[in-house]
Amino acid sequence: MRYKRVAAVAMMASLALSAAACGKEGNPTPSGGNASGGAQSDQCTTSGVTFTPKTDVNVAGSPTFQKIKSAGKVTIGVKFDQPNLGYKDAQGKRCGFDVEMAQYIAGTLGVDPAKIEYKEIASANRETAIKGGEIDYYVGTYSITDKRKNDVSFAGPYFVAGQDLLVRKDDSSITGKDSLKGKKVCSATGSTPIQRVRDENLTEPNNIVEFKTYSECVSQLLDKKVDAVTTDDAILKGYAAQNPDELKVVGQPFSTEKYGIGLPKDDKALRDYVNDQIEAAFKDGTWQKIYDGTLGKSGSSATPPQLERY
Ligand code: GLU
Repeated sequence: MRYKRVAAVAMMASLALSAAACGKEGNPTPSGGNASGGAQSDQCTTSGVTFTPKTDVNVAGSPTFQKIKSAGKVTIGVKFDQPNLGYKDAQGKRCGFDVEMAQYIAGTLGVDPAKIEYKEIASANRETAIKGGEIDYYVGTYSITDKRKNDVSFAGPYFVAGQDLLVRKDDSSITGKDSLKGKKVCSATGSTPIQRVRDENLTEPNNIVEFKTYSECVSQLLDKKVDAVTTDDAILKGYAAQNPDELKVVGQPFSTEKYGIGLPKDDKALRDYVNDQIEAAFKDGTWQKIYDGTLGKSGSSATPPQLERY
């Protein structure tokens, strides 16, 4: 009871803030207005950026936009266990760099933050979820690759990471990708990092351990059931920060992971529009504010990458 009350008070405080921010912009929201919009919002914005929905938006020729418009909401695929990127806070609110980028894009499509529905989709299921229309778009450490482009399209990149290794702090035997032979290496099913471990034969096939999520791999590492977790450095830094006495990132990245917003393959109009919105966020400082208030808190500074318009 007590916990609930405290959480409720915290929630009211943040609602008051978001309602005030919406009110200031004076944007009317369909059904319910600002107060109820804030009341249903289940995301946090640690960057302090207000994602005010644009009015009078039209993305001509975009079936996804039409779908969003007639549904009056957007469904976005995200991760839920990646610190600073896409995770749930103590109040169950969704936070992080990817979540805030997702909110920003929703706002540019005219969607109120309270009308965002998040779906947790693991790495291996992203193409299927986008192709099947289960989600309107995906924002979650999703590397742009030619193989994936057979099934989906991408806007971006909006961030560039690199594959790295997370190991136990007292382990000095793993110094980079070429020291993994004979070591148990864990990664997520359907990810580019696990594919690279296989393609480059970085360890023996029977030493490759896979789970749906990286957080399961991290538990295995802490339990000494595996020797390393491999994925993007941006993700691993978040896990290391949660357990600084036990874990460390090796810090020798060995790939280029360009993060894109995953979109339905044939919706070129939406892709062009989202690219324009990403570019606008790069130029007007919104991206920098989002980054500095989320992923940037892990200690690595960054500036917007080169937009490539795939
Ligand atoms: N960026 C890589 C990928 O898209 C690894 C992170 C992830 O699995 O989301 O496969």
